[in-house]
Amino acid sequence: MKLRTFALAVSALVFVSQAAFAQRQTGPQAVAIKAGKLLDPETGKAASNQVILVEGNLIKEIGANVAIPSRAKVIDLSHSTVLPGLMDAHTHLCMTVIPDRDANNYYITTLLDPTPYRAIQGVANGQAMLQSGFTTVRDIGNAGNYADTALRQAIEAGWVIGPTVVNSGIIISVYGGQFHLQPEKKDLATPEYLFADTRDEMRKAIRQNVHYGAEFIKIVVDDQRYIYSVDDLKFMVAEVHAMGLKLAAHCWTYQGAHNAAEAGVDSIEHGFRMTDEDLELAKRNNVTLVGTEFTVKTSNAEEHKIWVDRLKRAYKIGVNMAFGTDVDVQLPGETRGTLTIDYITSWKEAGVPAADTLRAMTVNAARLIGVDKQRGFLKPGLHADIIATAENPVDNIDTLRSVSFVMKDGVIVKQP
Ligand SMILES: [Zn+2]
Repeated sequence: MKLRTFALAVSALVFVSQAAFAQRQTGPQAVAIKAGKLLDPETGKAASNQVILVEGNLIKEIGANVAIPSRAKVIDLSHSTVLPGLMDAHTHLCMTVIPDRDANNYYITTLLDPTPYRAIQGVANGQAMLQSGFTTVRDIGNAGNYADTALRQAIEAGWVIGPTVVNSGIIISVYGGQFHLQPEKKDLATPEYLFADTRDEMRKAIRQNVHYGAEFIKIVVDDQRYIYSVDDLKFMVAEVHAMGLKLAAHCWTYQGAHNAAEAGVDSIEHGFRMTDEDLELAKRNNVTLVGTEFTVKTSNAEEHKIWVDRLKRAYKIGVNMAFGTDVDVQLPGETRGTLTIDYITSWKEAGVPAADTLRAMTVNAARLIGVDKQRGFLKPGLHADIIATAENPVDNIDTLRSVSFVMKDGVIVKQP
């Protein structure tokens, strides 16, 4: 994101945020959305000429013959397809890598950008995500000293508008995290990682995270020569599940993904190197793959090919998948939102049908993130996280690149 674009986006959204405040102060408002087509991502089917009545932050009623109260604001989307807001199950909102400054390396980013600055980056990146139709994110670490918890709390309190954030706190890893330290500067990975090599350290790191606001736990399985064993992973799964939370496991290598699939973690993040056998194993053990299939823009052509091949194999094998991107860079002419939606390129190249891609971006992600009782579907009683596109994304997934309308918790944040 260019600095000027960034500033404009922020000022536009401060306005939106004040509007949100005004709505809260005057009590629940009614909005009636006239939807030309109402798409259910679970079935891929669209119903024509429906009305969604929103009151306050919830969907009150949906149907062809809904009575529209006279006080309701009417939004005419009769030429659009209306669907639930999109979800990204792998974000790093509180980190912005600036390639020229940081040598494209977030190790430098974490040295230069302090936590308060990163909390504000989180607000701006979250608002850019909203503008591209992403109304829920699972924020998966690399947020300094709990900037992610601060971001979530500020959004929940209504101080700023942003997507629903479900956050992991600090990433738990074997000694060194994803960095390479040097013996005179052993704390360079603080606060980015909590090193946990023994069982006591694992348990303590998990509890520390939960105490400071983590809503799930993120671990890095590999990235060092020594990695978490299947038994280590089973131990952490049990500890995390005992609190009713989930465990997300970063796996870059064959062995890392194998151990995680065998241990039955809740999600394998990346799975860059994964054999068909391990994809089968993940499927058997109900592991969701959050594949972060990088585009050419966010990685390079050679690596992108490997991602697309793995996505193709995962789809064929039928492992459960949720859309996740891992976008953390700032590129000219792009926002965090535009870089994120561009990942549908990888899904298209892998030959995944649009309906299945959309399921990964909505209902599958909602279930993994654990918000499916509140969000991810358009049903009475659920939160009004609603977007609209010119075409039906099941017919043309690329229409998601230009979302024309976004409502977040009943507040309109973008409209035609
Ligand atoms: Zn990541």
